[in-house]
Amino acid sequence: KHVIQLNNIAKAFISDEIQTHALQGINLTVAKGEYLAITGPSGCGKSTLLSILGLLDVPTEGEYWLSGNNVANLGRDQRADIRAQHLGFVFQSFNLISDLTVLENVLLPLTYQPNFEKKTAMLQAKQALEDVDMQHRMNHFPSQLSGGQQQRVAIARALINAPDLILADEPTGNLDSKNAQLVLDLFKKLNQQGKTICMVTHDPRSAESASRQIELFDGTIVSDRTVQSKSFAA
Ligand code: ADP
Ligand code: ADP
Repeated sequence: KHVIQLNNIAKAFISDEIQTHALQGINLTVAKGEYLAITGPSGCGKSTLLSILGLLDVPTEGEYWLSGNNVANLGRDQRADIRAQHLGFVFQSFNLISDLTVLENVLLPLTYQPNFEKKTAMLQAKQALEDVDMQHRMNHFPSQLSGGQQQRVAIARALINAPDLILADEPTGNLDSKNAQLVLDLFKKLNQQGKTICMVTHDPRSAESASRQIELFDGTIVSDRTVQSKSFAA
Protein backbone atom coordinates (compact mmCIF):
# COMPACT_ATOMS: atom_id res chain seq x y z
CA LYS A 1 0.00 0.00 0.00
CA HIS A 2 1.45 3.33 -1.04
CA VAL A 3 1.18 6.40 1.13
CA ILE A 4 2.65 8.64 -1.58
CA GLN A 5 2.67 8.33 -5.32
CA LEU A 6 3.92 11.27 -7.38
CA ASN A 7 3.58 11.02 -11.16
CA ASN A 8 5.61 13.46 -13.20
CA ILE A 9 5.24 16.35 -10.76
CA ALA A 10 6.49 19.77 -11.81
CA LYS A 11 6.37 23.10 -10.03
CA ALA A 12 7.13 26.42 -11.67
CA PHE A 13 7.14 29.81 -9.98
CA ILE A 14 6.65 32.96 -11.97
CA SER A 15 7.84 36.28 -10.60
CA ASP A 16 8.66 39.41 -12.61
CA GLU A 17 7.96 37.37 -15.75
CA ILE A 18 10.86 35.09 -14.89
CA GLN A 19 9.93 31.44 -14.56
CA THR A 20 11.76 29.20 -12.11
CA HIS A 21 11.34 25.46 -12.49
CA ALA A 22 11.62 24.45 -8.84
CA LEU A 23 10.67 20.82 -9.61
CA GLN A 24 10.54 18.84 -12.84
CA GLY A 25 9.64 15.27 -13.70
CA ILE A 26 9.37 14.07 -10.12
CA ASN A 27 8.27 10.45 -9.88
CA LEU A 28 8.25 9.00 -6.39
CA THR A 29 6.52 6.17 -4.62
CA VAL A 30 6.65 5.81 -0.85
CA ALA A 31 5.21 2.73 0.82
CA LYS A 32 3.62 2.66 4.23
CA GLY A 33 6.30 2.36 6.90
CA GLU A 34 9.13 3.93 4.92
CA TYR A 35 11.45 6.54 6.45
CA LEU A 36 12.66 8.89 3.78
CA ALA A 37 15.26 11.66 3.90
CA ILE A 38 15.15 14.28 1.15
CA THR A 39 18.58 15.86 0.68
CA GLY A 40 20.40 18.12 -1.76
CA PRO A 41 22.00 21.56 -1.96
CA SER A 42 20.25 24.82 -1.17
CA GLY A 43 17.77 25.79 -3.90
CA CYS A 44 17.39 22.25 -5.31
CA GLY A 45 13.66 22.10 -4.52
CA LYS A 46 13.48 20.33 -1.15
CA SER A 47 11.10 22.83 0.50
CA THR A 48 8.94 22.96 -2.60
CA LEU A 49 8.64 19.18 -2.64
CA LEU A 50 7.82 19.05 1.07
CA SER A 51 5.17 21.79 0.62
CA ILE A 52 3.53 19.78 -2.13
CA LEU A 53 3.69 16.56 -0.12
CA GLY A 54 2.16 18.45 2.83
CA LEU A 55 -0.61 19.97 0.69
CA LEU A 56 0.60 23.46 1.55
CA ASP A 57 1.16 24.16 -2.12
CA VAL A 58 -0.02 22.59 -5.37
CA PRO A 59 2.06 21.35 -8.31
CA THR A 60 1.77 23.01 -11.70
CA GLU A 61 1.82 19.59 -13.39
CA GLY A 62 1.44 15.96 -12.46
CA GLU A 63 -0.52 13.73 -10.13
CA TYR A 64 -0.24 13.31 -6.38
CA TRP A 65 -1.91 10.27 -4.87
CA LEU A 66 -1.98 10.37 -1.05
CA SER A 67 -3.13 7.10 0.52
CA GLY A 68 -4.88 6.26 -2.76
CA ASN A 69 -6.65 9.60 -3.24
CA ASN A 70 -5.81 12.05 -5.98
CA VAL A 71 -5.04 15.28 -4.14
CA ALA A 72 -3.10 17.28 -6.74
CA ASN A 73 -5.98 19.52 -7.75
CA LEU A 74 -7.91 20.03 -4.54
CA GLY A 75 -8.90 23.49 -3.34
CA ARG A 76 -7.57 25.22 -0.25
CA ASP A 77 -10.28 24.06 2.17
CA GLN A 78 -10.14 20.44 1.12
CA ARG A 79 -6.37 20.47 1.44
CA ALA A 80 -6.67 21.94 4.95
CA ASP A 81 -9.08 19.14 5.93
CA ILE A 82 -6.72 16.46 4.65
CA ARG A 83 -3.78 18.09 6.43
CA ALA A 84 -5.70 18.12 9.72
CA GLN A 85 -6.85 14.51 9.41
CA HIS A 86 -4.01 12.67 7.70
CA LEU A 87 -0.74 14.59 8.06
CA GLY A 88 1.60 15.51 10.89
CA PHE A 89 4.14 18.33 10.60
CA VAL A 90 7.43 18.87 12.42
CA PHE A 91 9.39 22.09 11.81
CA GLN A 92 12.92 23.29 12.36
CA SER A 93 11.79 25.98 14.79
CA PHE A 94 9.27 23.74 16.64
CA ASN A 95 6.38 26.24 16.12
CA LEU A 96 4.85 25.70 19.54
CA ILE A 97 2.44 28.35 20.80
CA SER A 98 4.22 30.16 23.60
CA ASP A 99 1.20 31.04 25.77
CA LEU A 100 -0.20 27.51 25.74
CA THR A 101 1.15 24.75 27.98
CA VAL A 102 2.76 21.62 26.59
CA LEU A 103 -0.48 19.68 27.06
CA GLU A 104 -2.55 22.43 25.41
CA ASN A 105 -0.17 22.60 22.45
CA VAL A 106 -0.46 18.85 21.87
CA LEU A 107 -4.23 18.95 22.31
CA LEU A 108 -4.70 21.81 19.85
CA PRO A 109 -4.94 19.83 16.57
CA LEU A 110 -7.72 17.69 18.07
CA THR A 111 -9.83 20.70 18.99
CA TYR A 112 -10.31 21.32 15.25
CA GLN A 113 -11.64 17.83 14.60
CA PRO A 114 -15.41 17.60 13.95
CA ASN A 115 -15.91 14.94 16.64
CA PHE A 116 -13.78 16.63 19.34
CA GLU A 117 -14.47 15.23 22.80
CA LYS A 118 -12.38 16.76 25.55
CA LYS A 119 -12.01 13.78 27.87
CA THR A 120 -10.86 11.40 25.13
CA ALA A 121 -8.64 14.09 23.63
CA MET A 122 -6.88 14.64 26.98
CA LEU A 123 -6.10 10.93 27.23
CA GLN A 124 -4.75 10.91 23.66
CA ALA A 125 -2.60 13.97 24.32
CA LYS A 126 -1.17 12.45 27.50
CA GLN A 127 -0.42 9.23 25.64
CA ALA A 128 1.33 11.16 22.83
CA LEU A 129 3.44 12.98 25.45
CA GLU A 130 4.35 9.64 27.02
CA ASP A 131 5.38 8.33 23.60
CA VAL A 132 7.95 11.14 23.36
CA ASP A 133 8.84 10.94 27.06
CA MET A 134 7.56 14.41 27.90
CA GLN A 135 4.59 13.63 30.15
CA HIS A 136 6.51 15.03 33.15
CA ARG A 137 6.50 18.48 31.50
CA MET A 138 2.87 18.67 30.42
CA ASN A 139 2.06 21.77 32.49
CA HIS A 140 5.21 23.66 31.48
CA PHE A 141 5.28 26.41 28.88
CA PRO A 142 7.52 26.04 25.80
CA SER A 143 9.96 28.71 27.08
CA GLN A 144 10.64 26.55 30.13
CA LEU A 145 11.92 23.70 27.99
CA SER A 146 15.17 23.01 26.18
CA GLY A 147 15.13 22.93 22.37
CA GLY A 148 15.23 19.15 22.35
CA GLN A 149 12.28 19.00 24.71
CA GLN A 150 10.33 21.48 22.60
CA GLN A 151 10.92 19.39 19.51
CA ARG A 152 9.72 16.25 21.33
CA VAL A 153 6.53 18.13 22.27
CA ALA A 154 6.15 19.24 18.64
CA ILE A 155 6.50 15.60 17.57
CA ALA A 156 3.79 14.61 20.06
CA ARG A 157 1.57 17.28 18.52
CA ALA A 158 2.30 15.87 15.05
CA LEU A 159 1.33 12.37 16.23
CA ILE A 160 -1.90 13.29 17.94
CA ASN A 161 -4.17 12.74 14.92
CA ALA A 162 -2.55 9.37 14.12
CA PRO A 163 -1.34 10.70 10.75
CA ASP A 164 -0.72 8.53 7.68
CA LEU A 165 2.41 10.55 7.06
CA ILE A 166 4.77 12.67 9.17
CA LEU A 167 6.52 15.48 7.29
CA ALA A 168 9.58 17.00 8.94
CA ASP A 169 11.45 20.08 7.73
CA GLU A 170 15.03 20.17 9.09
CA PRO A 171 13.82 18.77 12.45
CA THR A 172 17.33 18.77 13.94
CA GLY A 173 18.40 22.12 12.42
CA ASN A 174 18.08 24.09 15.66
CA LEU A 175 19.39 21.42 18.02
CA ASP A 176 22.78 20.59 19.48
CA SER A 177 24.14 17.16 18.62
CA LYS A 178 22.86 15.45 21.77
CA ASN A 179 19.31 16.68 21.31
CA ALA A 180 19.47 16.06 17.56
CA GLN A 181 20.33 12.45 18.30
CA LEU A 182 17.38 12.16 20.72
CA VAL A 183 15.03 13.42 18.00
CA LEU A 184 16.52 11.04 15.41
CA ASP A 185 16.20 8.15 17.88
CA LEU A 186 12.57 9.10 18.39
CA PHE A 187 11.87 9.16 14.63
CA LYS A 188 13.51 5.77 14.32
CA LYS A 189 11.33 4.39 17.10
CA LEU A 190 8.18 5.83 15.50
CA ASN A 191 9.21 4.38 12.15
CA GLN A 192 9.73 0.97 13.77
CA GLN A 193 6.18 1.28 15.09
CA GLY A 194 5.05 1.64 11.47
CA LYS A 195 4.92 5.41 10.99
CA THR A 196 5.75 6.75 7.52
CA ILE A 197 8.16 9.69 7.73
CA CYS A 198 9.50 12.13 5.11
CA MET A 199 12.20 14.44 6.37
CA VAL A 200 14.01 17.24 4.55
CA THR A 201 17.53 17.67 5.86
CA HIS A 202 20.94 19.19 5.16
CA ASP A 203 22.48 17.22 7.98
CA PRO A 204 24.28 14.05 6.82
CA ARG A 205 23.77 12.33 10.17
CA SER A 206 20.01 12.92 9.98
CA ALA A 207 19.92 11.66 6.39
CA GLU A 208 21.86 8.52 7.34
CA SER A 209 19.41 7.68 10.09
CA ALA A 210 16.57 7.39 7.57
CA SER A 211 16.18 4.10 5.70
CA ARG A 212 15.91 5.72 2.27
CA GLN A 213 17.68 8.78 0.89
CA ILE A 214 16.37 10.81 -2.03
CA GLU A 215 18.77 13.38 -3.42
CA LEU A 216 17.51 16.36 -5.41
CA PHE A 217 19.53 18.52 -7.75
CA ASP A 218 18.10 21.37 -9.81
CA GLY A 219 14.57 20.19 -9.19
CA THR A 220 14.98 16.57 -10.19
CA ILE A 221 15.71 13.36 -8.30
CA VAL A 222 19.31 12.38 -9.00
CA SER A 223 19.60 9.47 -6.59
CA ASP A 224 17.30 7.21 -4.61
CA ARG A 225 19.04 4.91 -2.19
CA THR A 226 17.45 2.43 0.19
CA VAL A 227 19.57 1.14 3.04
CA GLN A 228 19.42 -2.63 3.35
CA SER A 229 17.82 -3.78 6.56
CA LYS A 230 20.50 -4.75 9.05
CA SER A 231 18.25 -7.18 10.88
CA PHE A 232 19.94 -10.29 9.41
CA ALA A 233 23.48 -9.01 9.82
CA ALA A 234 25.81 -11.05 12.05
P1 ADP B 1 15.52 24.17 -1.16
O1 ADP B 1 14.47 23.94 -0.14
O2 ADP B 1 16.16 22.91 -1.65
O3 ADP B 1 16.53 25.18 -0.73
P2 ADP B 1 13.38 25.49 -2.62
O4 ADP B 1 12.33 24.45 -2.83
O5 ADP B 1 13.18 26.48 -1.55
O6 ADP B 1 14.80 24.77 -2.47
O7 ADP B 1 13.58 26.31 -3.99
C1 ADP B 1 13.72 25.70 -5.28
C2 ADP B 1 13.78 26.81 -6.32
O8 ADP B 1 12.51 27.44 -6.42
C3 ADP B 1 14.77 27.90 -6.01
O9 ADP B 1 15.34 28.34 -7.24
C4 ADP B 1 13.93 28.97 -5.39
O10 ADP B 1 14.50 30.25 -5.58
C5 ADP B 1 12.63 28.82 -6.15
N1 ADP B 1 11.45 29.22 -5.34
C6 ADP B 1 11.00 28.60 -4.22
N2 ADP B 1 9.89 29.20 -3.76
C7 ADP B 1 9.63 30.23 -4.62
C8 ADP B 1 8.60 31.23 -4.69
N3 ADP B 1 7.62 31.28 -3.80
N4 ADP B 1 8.66 32.12 -5.71
C9 ADP B 1 9.64 32.06 -6.64
N5 ADP B 1 10.62 31.14 -6.63
C10 ADP B 1 10.63 30.23 -5.63
P1 ADP C 1 15.90 16.23 29.49
O1 ADP C 1 17.18 15.45 29.43
O2 ADP C 1 15.14 16.13 30.77
O3 ADP C 1 14.99 16.01 28.32
P2 ADP C 1 17.58 18.66 29.14
O4 ADP C 1 18.81 17.98 29.62
O5 ADP C 1 17.54 19.15 27.77
O6 ADP C 1 16.24 17.79 29.40
O7 ADP C 1 17.24 19.89 30.12
C1 ADP C 1 17.19 19.74 31.53
C2 ADP C 1 16.30 20.85 32.14
O8 ADP C 1 16.87 22.14 31.93
C3 ADP C 1 14.93 20.86 31.48
O9 ADP C 1 13.95 20.40 32.36
C4 ADP C 1 14.67 22.27 31.08
O10 ADP C 1 13.53 22.77 31.76
C5 ADP C 1 15.90 23.06 31.45
N1 ADP C 1 16.43 23.70 30.24
C6 ADP C 1 17.35 23.20 29.39
N2 ADP C 1 17.63 24.02 28.39
C7 ADP C 1 16.84 25.10 28.56
C8 ADP C 1 16.64 26.33 27.85
N3 ADP C 1 17.31 26.60 26.71
N4 ADP C 1 15.74 27.21 28.32
C9 ADP C 1 15.07 26.94 29.44
N5 ADP C 1 15.19 25.81 30.17
C10 ADP C 1 16.07 24.91 29.76
